[in-house]
Amino acid sequence: MTVTTRFAPSPTGELHVGSAWAALASWLVARASGGRVIVRMEDLDAPRVVEGAAERILHDLAWLGLDWDEGPPVGGPNAPYAQSQRTALYEAALDVLRAQGVVYPCDCSRTDIQRAASAPHAGEEAVYPGTCQKGDPLRLMKRPAAMRLRVTDCRVRIEDRVCGVLEQDVEKDVGDFVLRRGDGVFAYQLAVVVDDAAMGVSDVVRGFDLWSSTPRQVHLFERLGLNVPRYWHVPIVLGPDGERLAKRRPSSRIGELRRAGIAAEEIVGELAFGLGWLKTPRPCRTSDLIGLNDPTRATFRREPWLVPSRWARLDSSASER
Ligand code: GLU
Repeated sequence: MTVTTRFAPSPTGELHVGSAWAALASWLVARASGGRVIVRMEDLDAPRVVEGAAERILHDLAWLGLDWDEGPPVGGPNAPYAQSQRTALYEAALDVLRAQGVVYPCDCSRTDIQRAASAPHAGEEAVYPGTCQKGDPLRLMKRPAAMRLRVTDCRVRIEDRVCGVLEQDVEKDVGDFVLRRGDGVFAYQLAVVVDDAAMGVSDVVRGFDLWSSTPRQVHLFERLGLNVPRYWHVPIVLGPDGERLAKRRPSSRIGELRRAGIAAEEIVGELAFGLGWLKTPRPCRTSDLIGLNDPTRATFRREPWLVPSRWARLDSSASER
């Protein structure tokens, strides 16, 4: 089977170094085995979409030397490549789940959920306590209802190609989760599963920040009778100080590095080194990276990567301005 990977940016701003790193990893997994690369714009959350961001992201990817076989602007056999134009597919998947009797409307607010659930740990979302599952589905809703998936008896085990074996009890750790929000916007969890399956993605390569979503997605693939892809969660990218590489830091944006005169080859070499693909950092083109490693072997590093401190100098010069 041809290896097919995808890069699925949300067009909410400029290309982040962490996204470029995940995109390079995804590109390497495909290209090193003669596979295909797809680009898909995840633009479902309209208020967060920034005009022109999709074009700028595509420009920065191409500038780095990352190419793709399908996606905007050229199109391809799985068009359209913007999620906002694919909602009929998500609706159809929701219908399949409805027919299984595992979808129910929910009008809980965030505060209702927080109040009813036991206090979550910092940074964690509250486990949905199942309030509306137990309620009368025909009662008058307080607000436009979200659609939730009923999750029962759901232990998911994933053999991630980078992180190893990961397990989660979705029922206990997440609870029934949202498939479509009250405002009608389809949830990332559903959209990504429908698209990865429809586009024939064999390998999902992405940042570790999305790991917590993966068991829910595996559960959805299985519920919908779709093939579960292989997963590769590459570690996160941090600032040179070991802190999160916040979007407001100029050194977090590929476009800003380019405007500061840093060459694409230097960035590619550093990213490839950070991924463990190169043993030492050296400027190189993406095409130079093919053939150096076999991605089916444990090639990627598991440790977070710290961007070079010389890039972070951009942050201090920006704050002095
Ligand atoms: N759209 C997501 C993001 O930009 C990526 C989703 C995915 O790779 O599954 O973070």
